[in-house]
Amino acid sequence: MTSPSRRFAARAEARGRPRRRPGHAPVAGVVRTLSVLARVGLGVAVILAFWGESISSVESRGGWFTLGGRLAGLVGTYLMLVMVILVSRIPWLERSVGQDQLVRWHRKIGGWPIGLIGLHVLLITWGYAQLTSVSILRQFWTFILHYPDILESALALALLVMAGVSSARIVRRRLKYETWWIVHLYMYLALGLAFFHQIKIGVMFLGHPVTRALWISIWVVAALSVASFRIALPVVRNLRHQLRVSSVRDEAPGVYSVVVTGRQINQLAVSGGQFFQWRFMTRELWWHAHPYSLSALPQAPYMRVTVKGLGDHSYAMKHLKPGTRVIVEGPYGTFTRHSLSSKRVLLVGAGVGVTPLRALLEDLPLSVQVTVLVRASVPDDVVHRQEIVDLVAKRHGNFHELIGSRDQVRLSTKSLHGLVGDLRDVDVYVCGPDSFTEMVDTAARQLGARPERIHRETFSF
Ligand SMILES: Cc1cc2nc3c(=O)[nH]c(=O)nc-3n(C[C@H](O)[C@H](O)[C@H](O)COP(=O)(O)OP(=O)(O)OC[C@H]3O[C@@H](n4cnc5c(N)ncnc54)[C@H](O)[C@@H]3O)c2cc1C
Repeated sequence: MTSPSRRFAARAEARGRPRRRPGHAPVAGVVRTLSVLARVGLGVAVILAFWGESISSVESRGGWFTLGGRLAGLVGTYLMLVMVILVSRIPWLERSVGQDQLVRWHRKIGGWPIGLIGLHVLLITWGYAQLTSVSILRQFWTFILHYPDILESALALALLVMAGVSSARIVRRRLKYETWWIVHLYMYLALGLAFFHQIKIGVMFLGHPVTRALWISIWVVAALSVASFRIALPVVRNLRHQLRVSSVRDEAPGVYSVVVTGRQINQLAVSGGQFFQWRFMTRELWWHAHPYSLSALPQAPYMRVTVKGLGDHSYAMKHLKPGTRVIVEGPYGTFTRHSLSSKRVLLVGAGVGVTPLRALLEDLPLSVQVTVLVRASVPDDVVHRQEIVDLVAKRHGNFHELIGSRDQVRLSTKSLHGLVGDLRDVDVYVCGPDSFTEMVDTAARQLGARPERIHRETFSF
């Protein structure tokens, strides 16, 4: 009897595969260009803080505090905008840097805007309090009650602090992903609320149309990035492809494939190993998108993901009804053949981590010599086993399985060496639970793999 997965492949084969659009290659020099642009922007923000200031105004009562407050406010806001741009899903950035790295940078910058904008409020209030000889608290109330758009900005700061607290590791671990995500959505509201007070009462902008235009243009770049790549592009793509669930099939205990069908799927430029953000338009699921990697290259009119039921969203996918509308964002990810730099490849996967490797295997150039190693507790847990075996056999590669509980069968440097030998001049792609990926990374380095040739996909950001 043929397995459901094989039927998926066979059905697409029977229709005759139309020419598929290959995934786009990364853009060279992106990181360098990005870091130059980010530094130039930071320079502009610092210069703007001094614009419109005179020696006498700085030396007047509270002048240094006010200047420090402006500097902190502008740099903090600028960093916020950089954070927004990093996660605005600009396609060339996504396929050159990878969403995981962009999210890491976003997180790394994260604490600065909150600290700097908090400092901005404190220093400006202190400076004005000195100038007008009132208490800091009184000055604060004066700002809130009598200055334009300050109340809105105070609300924006509260939202910013809320997002910061929700992202702290200790809080984040206790929150549901969806709760954390919704808190983060409020950041866009916070930015909108904070914008107008800068333009209306910032001394560097009042009567200085050029500085005003420069600052507004930084905001416009951030706003356009979000509007274009998080909203317009997905809307256009989804109108074009009109995806719907075709079927849901069991693949292994607790693991199932969702096959979707759509129009002009062969026009979707995607590489094996990439993922999409999936939104299933049912009453329970429509409001949150989750990342899942394709478990096979698209075969028009089908695309497939293979999912392990771990929580609300992934469990609910098992019960999706044929015909359910699906909205995707992507493709994203750098876990693709474009990262290859040698003629030999080792693909190592455990659990549902095998799925992007299955799609990548299909996408690797035929000239590449491939070895696949899969790890599972019992044979039935090896997801898409037969498909992988067939693909490996087609290209005369090697297939190894490590089956058994962690206590019985350990993947170590020694056992890896026994199976695949020396890893000098080999690209290693690994996907699985974090501890497994870590172990393979360490073992691969000890067997001679160059760090830049070890490519990891993690199933959490
Ligand atoms: C790039 C990438 C590719 C992935 N590919 C696959 C795949 O092919 N097959 C598969 O089974 N799983 C895949 N995952 C994991 C999958 O996204 C999560 O298991 C799923 O989102 C869990 O959601 P839940 O509501 O079922 O469980 P929850 O209980 O809400 O979450 C379980 C874990 O997943 C994390 N998570 C939840 N939602 C998201 C989200 N939207 N973005 C990032 N992390 C989230 C949570 O922080 C938690 O650690 C992938 C994850 C990433 C980041």
